[in-house]
Formats: sequence, C-alpha cells, structure tokens
Amino acid sequence: MKKALITGITGQDGSYLAEQLLDRDYEVHGLVRRVTLEDPTHRLRRIRHIQKDLRLHLGTIESYARLLDIFEDVKPDECYHLAAQSFLHESFEDSHTTFDTNITGVLNTLTALKRKSPDTRFFFAGSSEMFGKVEETPQTEETKFHPRSPYGITKVTGFEITRNFREAYNIFACSGIFFNHESPRRGYEFVTRKITSNLAKISCTGEGVLKLGNLEAQRDWGFAGDYVDAMWKMLQRSEPEDYVVATGESHTVREFVESAARHAGMDLYWDGEGINECGIDRTTERKVVEIDPKLFRPSEVNLLLGNASKARRELGWKPRVYFDGLVSMMVESDLRK
Ligand code: GDP
Repeated sequence: MKKALITGITGQDGSYLAEQLLDRDYEVHGLVRRVTLEDPTHRLRRIRHIQKDLRLHLGTIESYARLLDIFEDVKPDECYHLAAQSFLHESFEDSHTTFDTNITGVLNTLTALKRKSPDTRFFFAGSSEMFGKVEETPQTEETKFHPRSPYGITKVTGFEITRNFREAYNIFACSGIFFNHESPRRGYEFVTRKITSNLAKISCTGEGVLKLGNLEAQRDWGFAGDYVDAMWKMLQRSEPEDYVVATGESHTVREFVESAARHAGMDLYWDGEGINECGIDRTTERKVVEIDPKLFRPSEVNLLLGNASKARRELGWKPRVYFDGLVSMMVESDLRK
C-alpha cells in the first residue's frame, strides 16, 4: 500500500486530494496544527467524512524538528506540500507572516524529506500569481515570472527551492503552476465563494448586499477536484517536471457575478459608473451588488489565462468542469446551505 503525506490536508485542495488518494488505496497521512484540533467542528469540516480513514499528525510546517520526526516515522512514497497562507489580501496586510510560513514551510519540508526520506516524491503547489503582471498571454511553463503580491513572491521562491532540490540533490521534486481553482469547499474570503454564498443568501432571504472590488480582473477558474488529479499524475511520471494546470478560458469577476446571479434566479443589470456602479435584480428592483473601494488591491493582477497543453500532452490531464459548470455547482451548493 502506498503512503502519502499531505501538508494542508484540511484545506480545499487537501480534502479533495485525500479523498482521491483513499479511493486509490493509499494510506493517507496529514499534518494538522494544534489550533485545528482545538476547533475541529470548523477546521476539520472538509475532511470530517473521511477522518476515520486518515492518519493525522500534530505539527506545523514552521517546525523543522517536527517534520524530521514525521518523515522518519512515516517515510511516505509521496508528499504533497499544499500548506500555505494562501489569501492574497492578507499577504499585503501581514507580509512577514506570509513570507515566514510559505517560504520557511517549503524549505523545512524539503530539507526534512531529504534528510529522512530522500526517495519520497515531492509536489509543490505553485500558483498563477507567480506570473502576476503577465509577460505574455496565455501563460505557459516558459513564461517569465513577475509576481505582484507578497503571496506571489513566496510562491516564486517555493518554486525555485523545489527546482533547486531537484537539480542539486536529485530529489523527485516538481511544481504545479496552478491557476485559480474553486469549489463548494472554497474559503469565503475568495471572490468566487464570496459571490456564490452572498447571492444565494440574498436570493433566499431577500436581504443583504454583495460588496466587491475590481470587477474587471480576469481569471482562469477551474474546479479544484480536477486539479488535485493533476498533482497525483505529476508524481507518477518517470521524471519530475513542472506543469501549468489551467482550463484555458478566462472570465472577468463581473461575468462570474452575472452567471452566479442567473443560477440563483436573479436577472441582474448594471447601473451607474466607477465606484458608484451597482448591480440590480430586475425581478425585484433591489440593489444586490455594490462597489467598495476598500476591496481593490494595492497592485492588481489583471489577466490570468493558462495554457495547459504540456499537462494535456504528457499527463493526459484535462479539466472536466469549465466556467459555467463550476459556477452552477457552487451556487447550487450555497443555495442548499
Ligand atoms: P486571487 O486570484 O488569488 O487573488 O483570488 P481572489 O478570489 O481573492 O481574487 C480574484 C480577483 O477578484 C482579484 O483580481 C480581486 O481583485 C478580485 N476581487 C474583486 N472583488 C473582490 C472581493 O471582494 N474579494 C476578493 N477576494 N477578490 C475580489
């Protein structure tokens, strides 16, 4: 039976990955923090349905000593390093914590792996935020990085650390450059879930208003369940390599709102301009979307669009869910809630 260790197992991607690895008959180990065990109702909610089949280890990616113990005890065949401070807005507010957690975290994990279990195959979750102020469109594995946020900078550094362990120490270490991937398990601080949860609530109660920042940003949004399958495929290859994982379609935040409103039974139109623009539901003539200038980013990433043809060619990976399917899946789940 193969063994996998997942850091960040309680997050959106960790939970989908753990489910898929259990289905593939893996023994699945996860690293969890003390705060998680102290608040299991909230923090273990994404893995509660499979918790009895998992082996959870107390520890953090900041603790090198603890990681040494875990790699020595478990000696996993595969390690998926997903743990990170991944909320971009917070990375601007508290960049030092984001740098500490994300950069030290990958270095600690890889160093412990190298010392105690050098045959473990390692996956690092890179991000399209590494492309930031994009140098070309669509972005591929060859596109130059130009991160625009502390979070993006930490992901570029993690990517380089991973590549260095591959080249310098012959570790099977690779990075996925993952474009935005969402699901009904997405955190409420990300724009997709913020939109679907608020519009579902407004549609059910007739109350509230959804406040948003930049509506013109374009993202390549895919389904997290598809993306974790690409992680696994990357670690089954004969050679470690880095891959862009994306749908190849880009949509604006505005289009996401319009589609989500439609799925929630509203007929949205826009009125006004700039920060005074708002979204109105024609069926009730109620204002449901408002612009809040505080929600704009200090430096924005305007357009992300990935070209995943290398993943398609070499991994046989392609998304099963595209934009409309994703929006409807998320809205329906939030309407049920
Ligand atoms: P990101 O691509 O990792 O930053 O994912 P997010 O879901 O946090 O943001 C996606 C895009 O939505 C960014 O360009 C944001 O500027 C834009 N956006 C507009 N309004 C909001 C908002 O209220 N919250 C968030 N999180 N993003 C917003």
